[in-house]
Amino acid sequence: MVAERAGLYEELAATGDFRRGSVSVNYRRCGKANCACAAPEHPGHGPRMLWTRTGPGGKSRGRQLAALEVEKVRAELDAYSRFASLTAAIVEVNEAICEARPVTAATAAAAGSPPGVGSLQDPAATDGEKGAPKPDPGRLYH
Ligand SMILES: [Zn+2]
Repeated sequence: MVAERAGLYEELAATGDFRRGSVSVNYRRCGKANCACAAPEHPGHGPRMLWTRTGPGGKSRGRQLAALEVEKVRAELDAYSRFASLTAAIVEVNEAICEARPVTAATAAAAGSPPGVGSLQDPAATDGEKGAPKPDPGRLYH
């Protein structure tokens, strides 16, 4: 698990530039009565490529992209997906490591109780999660 975690951190470092959000195509009518776009069969001016994402406070923000930018932005959005799934995997493997790592004499002393008392090694202390696997230090390094 520790090796798996190290591998995930390496992948995370190699993620590269990323951004959140999405790219959308947009057509719009300018509103001028004498413009071609006023005709019902006209799709409207465009296509305009927009990058939109949710900013702080849940507000949606957007920016029009230059045609040359679109592929770069799409690649950066893909990189964000990789970043997000890697961080989720890192959270999972860290939780598993925490569960597998035994309470040491040092941490037990810091908590003010001898090892085994009130720790994960005491089955009576784990009234939640019935059937949870027993901590096994050997699993950590596989
Ligand atoms: Zn128009």
